[in-house]
Amino acid sequence: MVVDADNYAILKANPVAADLLGYSGQELAGLSLMELADPENQQRLQDFLARIRAEQMLDRITCSLCPSDGFRFPSELSAQMLPSSCGKHQMLLITFQDLSERIRASEDIALRNIAIANVHSGVTIADARQPDLPLIYVNKGFQEMTGYSAKEAVGRSCRFLQGVDRKQPQLEELRAALREGRACVVRLRNYRKDGTLFFNELHISPVRNDAGELTHFVGIQLDVTERERARERLTLSETRYRQLANTVDDLIIRRDADDIIEFASSASIRMLGISPQQMVGMNLKALLHPEDRAALTAQVKRILQSEGPRTITFRMRLPNGLYRWFESRDRLVTDDQEDGDPALIVSVIRDVTLRKRAEEETRRALEKEKEINELKTAFISMVSHEFRTPMTGIQSSATLLRKFSDKLTEEKKVQHLKNIDSALKRMNRLLDDVLFFSRAEADKLQVNRAERDIHNYLHGLIEGLSLIYPGHQVITDIKLPKGSRHLIDEHLLNHILQNLIGNALKYSPPEQPVTVTVEVSDGDLLFTVADQGIGIPDADQAKLFDAFHRATNVGTIQGTGIGLNIAQRAVELLQGRIMFESKQGVGSTFTVRIPVDIPNTQTQSS
Ligand code: ADP
Repeated sequence: MVVDADNYAILKANPVAADLLGYSGQELAGLSLMELADPENQQRLQDFLARIRAEQMLDRITCSLCPSDGFRFPSELSAQMLPSSCGKHQMLLITFQDLSERIRASEDIALRNIAIANVHSGVTIADARQPDLPLIYVNKGFQEMTGYSAKEAVGRSCRFLQGVDRKQPQLEELRAALREGRACVVRLRNYRKDGTLFFNELHISPVRNDAGELTHFVGIQLDVTERERARERLTLSETRYRQLANTVDDLIIRRDADDIIEFASSASIRMLGISPQQMVGMNLKALLHPEDRAALTAQVKRILQSEGPRTITFRMRLPNGLYRWFESRDRLVTDDQEDGDPALIVSVIRDVTLRKRAEEETRRALEKEKEINELKTAFISMVSHEFRTPMTGIQSSATLLRKFSDKLTEEKKVQHLKNIDSALKRMNRLLDDVLFFSRAEADKLQVNRAERDIHNYLHGLIEGLSLIYPGHQVITDIKLPKGSRHLIDEHLLNHILQNLIGNALKYSPPEQPVTVTVEVSDGDLLFTVADQGIGIPDADQAKLFDAFHRATNVGTIQGTGIGLNIAQRAVELLQGRIMFESKQGVGSTFTVRIPVDIPNTQTQSS
């Protein structure tokens, strides 16, 4: 602006001046400069301008100006006299500048300086353009953290904080970042002025100028000693816990309520063939037998409800696909648990397969014992009942012979003696069966094969039976060359054939002959016993070989119900097969197939 030096009337203003003051160029011309000055500044401004005029100099003053909108602003105003040749008036050239922005910026910087100076963390600035990056600024936080004053720190490389502890791996990372002018975060062991150690988490950021040149590094230091010590303590206790868990033979696992394993002791390798590392993240349930998974879910529910330890047994799969039994003692871990932490369960698991097997064996043995006891009772009642009939027969024949021997005809006497003989034979057979049955129950039977002439053997056997069942007829059809010999176990074969032929005779009327056939078929000896007796009802056929089972149609025919069971056991011992076909009221055919070319390992001469 050009201003009259006498009365400060504005003679001319450029558009920038008009704009800053909020008037048009014309409006300004005519106003006095003093009207635009803040009233508080007017006197000072007048004095200043008077001095400019008197001393014919150029100078500047800071004063506040009032634009048309009334919002005053600070300005830097300079003034100088214009040469007098310019007109009759003495004129002043006034230039001014709005200082608001600059002031605001410097206020901002001052604020930031205060903030940086007062933050609790250490803040440092190092000059990147000087060798060895000397510190040019350290804040109060740094001084408190390290014990070094600004005077002691500024001008030195930050390195002095490491003392003699120079072999820290993180230092390499820091040096590389400084060399490459990039940001980095490292955790260093640093030492205070008094020599005490502290852990310094150092955040370094490079600062570049407008041209992109690296000028400074700003460093923020955080004292993380407490955090570091807590971490060290945690690692130490975790290591000790792990060592402890690994010395125990049982498998120790820690899992969450969803059964996800987060720790497993080294016993997992020995027990399950899975390394502890592999176990982590696995679901415990996935290792369990599908049938045992529901029990585990129920167990977790119970544990979450009450804190006491609980025991559960389940099967787990081994890498070979087989399952073993394990017992797990589970307990909810509440120590050190903060609100919101997931519930954790610690389980101590041991292999109890052997114990389970022993339990199972004991249970089976008890069951067997119970079965044997029941069998014994049935047996005793059956045997006493069966013995009574022949014994009564013997007794009556003997009494008659004793009392009336002089009155009986010779023929009658012979008949009574035959009766006694037959009854004795029947008792003998019964005793034989009883003995066989009890030895079979005790697994004491052995196979003893010896060469025998089948013709002779079979005729002898049938002869004996005929004495027990007098009046019955047996037709034998032996399809083997006379005198041919075979390896047989006579004792076992007796039990088979005596029972089958005896039954055929017993369950048919005397007039219906029983046919016994022997042949060699596919290298086996094949015996067939056929009768036309009472037959076996369909409903009874399935259980026919069970001990003490008798068909519903036996009526008053005497029997024990163990004959067929004995025959079947003997056939099995000889590795043969026994089959039958029967129709009630028509008759029955029993077939026994016995291999005779078996390697005769158990043969003894008989
Ligand atoms: P039992 O001493 O009662 O004859 P077994 O064990 O020898 O006992 O036979 C079991 C049952 O099988 C007999 O009680 C009878 O009902 C039936 N049974 C066996 N053989 C014959 C047969 N040849 N004819 C009809 N029923 C038979």
